[in-house]
Amino acid sequence: MRVKCLRISVTDRCNLRCVYCRPPDDYDFINQNEILTFEEIHRIVRLFADCGIDKVRLTGGEPLVRRNVTSLIERLAAIKGIRELTLTTNGVWLRPMADKLKAAGLDRVNISVDSLEAENYKKITGCDVLSRVIDGIHKAIEVGLQPVKVNAVILRGINHSQIPALARMSIDLPVTVRFIEYCPTNKDTHPANDYMPYSEIRNVIERAFGPLSNAAIGRSNGPALYFKIKDSAGAIGFIAGRSTMFCRSCNRIRLTSDGKIKPCLYSAHTYDLKRLLRNQASDRQMRDLLKMIISEKGNYTKLNSFKEEFSMCKVGG
Ligand code: SAM
Repeated sequence: MRVKCLRISVTDRCNLRCVYCRPPDDYDFINQNEILTFEEIHRIVRLFADCGIDKVRLTGGEPLVRRNVTSLIERLAAIKGIRELTLTTNGVWLRPMADKLKAAGLDRVNISVDSLEAENYKKITGCDVLSRVIDGIHKAIEVGLQPVKVNAVILRGINHSQIPALARMSIDLPVTVRFIEYCPTNKDTHPANDYMPYSEIRNVIERAFGPLSNAAIGRSNGPALYFKIKDSAGAIGFIAGRSTMFCRSCNRIRLTSDGKIKPCLYSAHTYDLKRLLRNQASDRQMRDLLKMIISEKGNYTKLNSFKEEFSMCKVGG
């Protein structure tokens, strides 16, 4: 699989505190001066585009809490070779920002919503903001940040009862609702035994809405599997990162908010691009390293690089 996609965590800060994502109160935020500047991110993306990367996703933490993120989007959208610029957000600030994001050159958004029941949503995220997020989904559709994908991490005993309601969104709205298997990342986050495999989630949906048919979504599906409920406006997706081995179809690498490349989400191994950048490395030196990272991507798989403890908000989910 050719590496085509770079996911960039633009900040490790977030306005929500999802039980499965963020460690508790004593989480040490990265010092501001260690976070990549917009100039640094722009240079890295420009050089990656020279090496064949054509899709960039901004994530976090919460990318919409990074100050002036629309100006970063404007600059990245103008880079030759970048054909798709997307963003993963919790949606809290999406409604007021959607027009500006679209005008800046953002192509589409993924929005995380783990529950459609206000109390349940609050229990998971720590915040009473579900209606703002739902407004954000509608606004994203309205301004054309499409196809909109809705991401839901399913935890047994916490939000598994929400599976039918979430799946129903794909019947009523032109959105792809993706069910993500919970991946334990840090000993301080949620207990690992709340994990619910893709096959079980799929059974719940098929019991409620009948058999799913295969669907193809967008240019490159990456590791997700896509289906449709009969007569639905949207689609259903599954990201079975835990119960299946999709390393062969993984076409992405990650840039952490403090400037490290992770060839695989699970890999302990990183490449410190920020150190190079701040030591005046030339474009050529940088490009040589990026090419090497891309060519070695296939060596990093879940099996050979699994490292149980990392923080999703630092790496960017
Ligand atoms: N704040 C943004 C958001 O909420 O979408 C972007 C960052 S968040 C880390 C990106 C995605 O990672 C979200 O869809 C989230 O649900 C997912 N995620 C976070 N922790 C996870 C975990 N332990 N297992 C599976 N997915 C996780």
